[in-house]
Amino acid sequence: MTEPASPALASSAAIEDAAVLLRKAERAVALTGAGISTPSGIPDFRSEGTGLWSRDEPLEVASLSTFRTAPERFFQWFQPLANCIFNAQPNPAHLALAAFERSGHLRTIITQNIDGLHQKAGSQHVIEMHGTLRTLSCTNCFKQFEAVPFLKPYTETGKIPQCLNCNGILKPDVILFGEQLPQSAWYEAQRAARQCDLMVVAGSSLEVLPVAGLPMQALDRGAHLIIINNTPTYLNVRADVVILEDVAATIPEIAKRVFHG
Ligand SMILES: [Zn+2]
Repeated sequence: MTEPASPALASSAAIEDAAVLLRKAERAVALTGAGISTPSGIPDFRSEGTGLWSRDEPLEVASLSTFRTAPERFFQWFQPLANCIFNAQPNPAHLALAAFERSGHLRTIITQNIDGLHQKAGSQHVIEMHGTLRTLSCTNCFKQFEAVPFLKPYTETGKIPQCLNCNGILKPDVILFGEQLPQSAWYEAQRAARQCDLMVVAGSSLEVLPVAGLPMQALDRGAHLIIINNTPTYLNVRADVVILEDVAATIPEIAKRVFHG
């Protein structure tokens, strides 16, 4: 490989290459991770060093076993994250992906995020691998509730959400450490990965299995791969285009080229 003449030139060529692949693709899929939501002010829920983790051991507090044995501790940790997500707005990367779906350039988004920002941006077909904050489920009778009426008072007062039916504790429908991925979402994501002709990884370091294996499934069936992430991933060597930059700055630039040539 030759060294690029300048970072700006290399990056603009990569953006053009990415736009060409997106224009040609018929069944493109995006795989998004925490990096697409950090520009919206949402800390990476599964990474250390984000402030959320400073007081507690992350794997322990964000786990199903802590939720079961010490829900007040879980909720104490969860409150700032929920509050942050509650107030967050989609950024230009979310909006550009939604525009790609509307224009037929993108079929599906597979996301590792729980913040619902793709939907807020207008994306219709979103597979949520780690669940969602939009609903809560009773740990006792399993009745499901819309989260907003519970989360708003919870973020303001810290009162743990309780079931209206049986007073059981309500668990956010997000996948905690120690929990299985939702099976239907996993099957749907695998199907999307195997059928796509282009996968765009955006803001994921591809470190969390099994989701991190999805681009490999796409590659094995001949799909092209674009990786946009500000740190390298294990698949950079196999990608057609790698852009080591912030997704919120990059994806709108690709969109300009896709829509306006
Ligand atoms: Zn209940």
